[in-house]
Amino acid sequence: MVPHPLAQQRSDGWELGYDVLELAFWSLTRHEELGRTDLDDRDRFPAVASHAFKHGYLDRPIVDEWLEILGQTLLRQWPGLQLRTRRFATQVSHDADNPSRYAFGGLKPLARMLALDVVRRRDVGAAAKGVVLRARSRHSLQPNDPANTFDWIMEQSDQRGLTSAFHFLCGRTHPTLDAYYDPEDPRIRFLMRAIHDRGHEIGLHPSYGTYRAPDAVAAEFQRLRQVCMEEGIAQSQWGGRMHYLRWDSAATGRALNDAGLDYDNTLSYADAPGFRSGTCIEYPAFDPVSNEPLRLRIRPLVAMEATVIASRYLALGEGEQAFAKFAALKDACRSVRGTFSLLWHNTSLETDRLKELYCQVLDA
Ligand SMILES: [Zn+2]
Repeated sequence: MVPHPLAQQRSDGWELGYDVLELAFWSLTRHEELGRTDLDDRDRFPAVASHAFKHGYLDRPIVDEWLEILGQTLLRQWPGLQLRTRRFATQVSHDADNPSRYAFGGLKPLARMLALDVVRRRDVGAAAKGVVLRARSRHSLQPNDPANTFDWIMEQSDQRGLTSAFHFLCGRTHPTLDAYYDPEDPRIRFLMRAIHDRGHEIGLHPSYGTYRAPDAVAAEFQRLRQVCMEEGIAQSQWGGRMHYLRWDSAATGRALNDAGLDYDNTLSYADAPGFRSGTCIEYPAFDPVSNEPLRLRIRPLVAMEATVIASRYLALGEGEQAFAKFAALKDACRSVRGTFSLLWHNTSLETDRLKELYCQVLDA
């Protein structure tokens, strides 16, 4: 229950009980995240510290709901008014942190993968296959590489009339948390061309240490554009998402804007899915430090697959519970005719069950 009526009729017209525009501004600009020190071990503002999580509304596009009320109130006041209409949509994107399970990096990352196969998955066969795959992947990514799910992803998107955006890392700002590939690698160039030729999108995945480093963002974007230009990849817009969803409200949007990106798709939390900025509708970014609107557009992310599935986050597994969570978030977007923006890594489709879950979510 809210203390004041949301809207009420008075003798001289309708009155809103809340300043919804002020609330929307506060939420969209992520004002509550400024100057915070209660960050997680990756220096991120976590969902659990947010007002929305603490008050149980992170799974609702609250700004869109407020503006819906504002719209309805305006219509009561001026019944002939034409409000802008929207259509519900689904958006899928994929961060190519590891385009191959075994192909890239020196012997250390390879040994780590093989050790994971043997120790954690108890799959000696996979490790043996890994050694063979490594040898065969010297010039091209192999179709039986468990991380090479790009064609399958594009097939799913094609069947449903969706465009997939694939984000590539183009720099190293952390010794172990960034990619082992370079965008100039012929195997990556081939992959980017294949994505582009099928009508899907290439985007930037700024590396781990860039979220407060505007020069690094600009250099990485430049590197991506250079490779794409050499490969004949032209796009009308360029967007991306920060690696590890690292985002500093005071710096990251400004950095992406100044580097020349058209949109960003980072804004969700790693530790809980939902509506970090209260909306599932694209909006113009705003620099809360200089108090200036930016050219950059924010496309809010609603869920990352790992946030729902992985044991370190919601731990809902790969079954019914996970599906129900994704479906509820999608319904929340549908209810305000917004966009359900889903991040699903190419490496999270290694099993039939994960592929099935992904399709179920797309079809929900
Ligand atoms: Zn990433």
